[in-house]
Amino acid sequence: MSLSLLHWHIEPSSICTLKCPRCPRAEVPESLLNKQLTLDFFQNQVGDDVIKEMKRITFCGNDGDPIYCNELIEIIQWIKSINPTINIVIITNGSYKKDEWWERLAHTLNKYDEINWSLDGWNQETNEQYRINSEWGSIISGIKTFKKFNSSTYTVWAMIAFKFNENHIDKIKRIAIEHSFDCFQLTLSTKFGSKYPQAYGDNDALEPSAEMVPEGHRFKRNIEILSNKRRRTEDIKSEYKKKIFELKDKGVIPRLCLIGNKGVFLNSRGEFYPCCWTATRYEHNAKWTEASKKKFNLNERTFDEIINDEFWSNEFLEFDNLECRTKCSSDKLISIDYMTEW
Ligand code: SF4
Ligand code: SF4
Repeated sequence: MSLSLLHWHIEPSSICTLKCPRCPRAEVPESLLNKQLTLDFFQNQVGDDVIKEMKRITFCGNDGDPIYCNELIEIIQWIKSINPTINIVIITNGSYKKDEWWERLAHTLNKYDEINWSLDGWNQETNEQYRINSEWGSIISGIKTFKKFNSSTYTVWAMIAFKFNENHIDKIKRIAIEHSFDCFQLTLSTKFGSKYPQAYGDNDALEPSAEMVPEGHRFKRNIEILSNKRRRTEDIKSEYKKKIFELKDKGVIPRLCLIGNKGVFLNSRGEFYPCCWTATRYEHNAKWTEASKKKFNLNERTFDEIINDEFWSNEFLEFDNLECRTKCSSDKLISIDYMTEW
């Protein structure tokens, strides 16, 4: 088995109240199932031994937002009881949860953890330009409540550059500073008409100016540090670098799933994938998503059975999937930033 298992990307819920237009929820609605993982699933299908080996879990969905998993806090409490120094990262739109829930989460997370709030505007009207159906009032109230009860967890304001906000980045950053965020992250996305005209048209109303759209087919991030707090997601990068050098020494191309930075992906139906890119429900991934329904589903087989399947030592290593060819080709895997960034 060659996959790196230090980092898991887990979708605890494929449920979301928002309607972001470039989300697979909106783009492939016909095969969307609203599901969520339970504490019982983690205790029995994942199990203590697997949790003990993890260094990081990123809770983020392909199809949904982690905060809409009913047992998210209980799941994290159980994980922390087994692996107290694990780095838990939650990526969320932040809407609609009550202050009491954020207070409980604040008491559950600690200095090893991180929350990324995905906020693209500076008030209800502007955030809703992309985060359709979001609720600014509950977002800000949740941020204030979390920060009142927890000052040790690393917090990131994560915005995507769009046409409607590209000239207001400083204004948004000032709000992040007012709310004592530790980091301001600007993501330059590729999901625009100039990259994918068949999907988004030649005149994409969301697309920002050309300098805000990266070359190639993977997003880019600009990070601005706003505090002196130690960011544990940075610590794990030394492990990724070690893996890169080990693989290169063996003459193996350091694809992201062999390094660990992308994380192996577990979705809300219990299906296991080498990364979240191969798990999106777009047509080009049909081979993966079909295989994972049964063959790589933790509700059908144990993790040992899945991970020891001969597929991972044979067919998988051909990396002939469209995602592998566009995101993990050898010409892309040159920059250390590319190979260690999530
Ligand atoms: S908040 Fe996330 S999961 Fe929800 S619709 Fe937007 S992109 Fe999709
Ligand atoms: S795109 Fe392919 S090579 Fe890259 S991380 Fe995913 S499975 Fe691995």
